[in-house]
Amino acid sequence: MKRDIHLVVLLLSVIGCSLASLTLWKVMASRERALEDVNVHGLNLTQALSTYSEGIVRQSSMLLLGLVERLETEGAGPGQIERLSQLVKRQQPLMPPMSGITIYARDGRWLMSSNRPMPDGANSSDRAFFIHHRDDPSRDPFIGLPIRSRVNQEWVITISRRFNDEHGEFAGVVAMTLGVENFLQLFGKLDVGHEGAIGLAYTDGSMLVRYPFREQDMGRNFSKSPIFTKYLVDQSAGTASFTSSLDGVERLYAFRKSDKLPLVTTVALGKQEALSAWRLEALLSSLVVAALLALIGAIGWLLIRAMSRRSAIENELRLTQQQLLDSNQRLESLAMHDALTGLANRRCFDEALTQEVRTAHRNGTTLALLMIDIDHFKRYNDTYGHPAGDACLQQIATLLSSCIRRPRDLLARYGGEEMAVILPDTDNDGAAVVARLMLQHLALQAIPHQGSPFGHVTASIGIACADGTVLDTPPSLIERADQALYIAKQAGRNRLHVDRAKA
Ligand code: GH3
Ligand code: MG
Ligand code: MG
Repeated sequence: MKRDIHLVVLLLSVIGCSLASLTLWKVMASRERALEDVNVHGLNLTQALSTYSEGIVRQSSMLLLGLVERLETEGAGPGQIERLSQLVKRQQPLMPPMSGITIYARDGRWLMSSNRPMPDGANSSDRAFFIHHRDDPSRDPFIGLPIRSRVNQEWVITISRRFNDEHGEFAGVVAMTLGVENFLQLFGKLDVGHEGAIGLAYTDGSMLVRYPFREQDMGRNFSKSPIFTKYLVDQSAGTASFTSSLDGVERLYAFRKSDKLPLVTTVALGKQEALSAWRLEALLSSLVVAALLALIGAIGWLLIRAMSRRSAIENELRLTQQQLLDSNQRLESLAMHDALTGLANRRCFDEALTQEVRTAHRNGTTLALLMIDIDHFKRYNDTYGHPAGDACLQQIATLLSSCIRRPRDLLARYGGEEMAVILPDTDNDGAAVVARLMLQHLALQAIPHQGSPFGHVTASIGIACADGTVLDTPPSLIERADQALYIAKQAGRNRLHVDRAKA
């Protein structure tokens, strides 16, 4: 039973552990999938934003190239500038992100501004893009860091080109300003959550645009960020996950470096935010599995309790059965034995004699019967008292029992102070040997008996034998043994007499 309970516990444990580990494995796999999805989504976004930014920059630099070409071939006189101003006005609606084009003379003076009234004496010789073109003969376009417009204080990014005079010397700069607001409007339409961010930076880590907009980030250098120090070193696009040193939020980053322009686009999503849907799903799965485990546990507990109860009932039943068997055995023993001496009683004697007579007859064997009667026992009682008589009877029973050796021999209390012995497969002589032994033992024991002429307790024994060939019934055998006993008594007691009538 204990083994069964152990097996049930083992089975339930295996089921429970399998279910829990399977769920854990599923939940972790779905977490990996969720992170993978976020990375793919981020990479796609960087691709789209990078293409958008590249397009704008390329469009701008083409437009500037046209203007540079005309300035260099036609000069920068007031007439030419006026024509160019008209041209730019017509081009401006075709390119919405452009907030304006300004032409600067070689000393930084404003020669033309497309859509704003020129401030008096405006000079931009201190601007980084102007200094770059003045000092660098390269004809390539230059993407400047975000600056505040001197006209309307808006944040703008400049894309500029240098133009030369007919001697190939620096003659001025044509710059296009792109409103940061344009980029922010587009970035704002993309869902990156509360903790997410989209950034467009220069390859040296200088931030051009960041959404959500933060004043302090404009032009800030992020070259110490792991994206620049670790990831962009040997790959142009990829994903990363790290905790921001600025706000302590762990984010999943997707980054992409432009193939042709010195621009880097990054899309970042808060890791915890990105995993919120997965977390809810994991929580629900865990709850369902926990409920299932609890159910399995409850069923197991009920099963084990039922098994224990059944086992207890079975044990109780077994105990009761054993008690019943013991009582039956006791009852049987009581029914077949004499309470005082412990010898077989009269009933047992009768049954055994009937059985042995039948066996002897069937097998043609001999069967001897001894009838033993204590001499002068009435006097013993009278002399020593009835309880002493009882004790004496018990002593004699033990003594006579010691004279019986064979397993089928039976010594019984026939009644009162009279006993009988059934000796199967025994003839008169054999029975006489047993009887003599009994008399000798009694003599040796010499239980004092003042009322007896012998001075100690003695007995008289009558022997009768059925030899199997003669049809002898139990009563007739008893009768003959009684007769022999009577003769022994008559002959003076403390002796045996063999009935040889039919033997
Ligand atoms: P005899 O030599 O002729 O056999 O004389 P006896 O006195 O033994 O014969 P009797 O049959 O007159 O007396 C038998 C006595 O045995 C009578 C009775 O008190 C006594 N007796 C029988 N059964 C018991 C018993 O269980 N306990 C005791 N203490 N005495 C018993
Ligand atoms: Mg008697
Ligand atoms: Mg007697």
